[in-house]
Amino acid sequence: MSEAAEHHREREGVGPIVLLGAPGAGKGTQAKLLERRYGVPQISTGDMLRHHVAQKTDLGLQAVEYMQRGSLVPDDVVMRMIQGRFRAPDAARGFVLDGFPRTVPQAEILTEKLKHLGWPPPLVVYLAMDYNILLQRLTGRRSCPKCGRIYNIYLQPPAHDGLCDVDGTPLITRKDDREDVIKERLRAFVEETRPVAKYYRQVGLFHKLDGSRPPDAITAELFVLADSRLHGGEEETGTVA
Ligand code: ADP
Repeated sequence: MSEAAEHHREREGVGPIVLLGAPGAGKGTQAKLLERRYGVPQISTGDMLRHHVAQKTDLGLQAVEYMQRGSLVPDDVVMRMIQGRFRAPDAARGFVLDGFPRTVPQAEILTEKLKHLGWPPPLVVYLAMDYNILLQRLTGRRSCPKCGRIYNIYLQPPAHDGLCDVDGTPLITRKDDREDVIKERLRAFVEETRPVAKYYRQVGLFHKLDGSRPPDAITAELFVLADSRLHGGEEETGTVA
């Protein structure tokens, strides 16, 4: 038995989970719920990058322009940032990847890293979304700069057009929710991240869930999938799209 396989036998916990989906598909919401239920960290490359940008680190300075445009940050910058994260003590029982891998090269490196660390193949869940609902979720988002409450002019509009229900402050659109940036985020998803779903489908590691349903329904299905990993023996017969 290889060293990696022996190590793998000692692993306990839910193991690695990869959430795939377009911007606005609800990956972050679901990742937080998985984190709580299984006691494993959410690893969000988007959050990590925003932190580097806010702290004005070298890495943040290299990433900021791509992010402002809605484009993907180069693979080598992302890989440098995430280097070592899977070996941190809080990730010993698994982790939930949210926003990573986002390109096929990132997915290939992840496969190697997981093997090297003795993990079984990840549970990969794709939150599929209707394109029009996605656009509404992203372009309709408005927030109150005073109290932080979030609205959607199509889905959860305020009582009075453009004004916060709580304090009457005029609502604003976040910078990366501007229409041109949204278009670029969706283009990056279609051209660079959809192939990641194909990559996992080809290796037989792929579960597709309908992300346009209410969050609770998605969570329930995710928990069933993840629970089956706790006993170590899931057969990889994911739903094929
Ligand atoms: P969203 O999915 O809503 O676009 P994220 O918070 O996941 O938001 O990511 C924000 C931005 O960070 C992305 O538009 C991209 O520029 C960058 N980013 C995040 N994760 C990655 C990654 N794995 N590879 C390249 N760029 C990334």
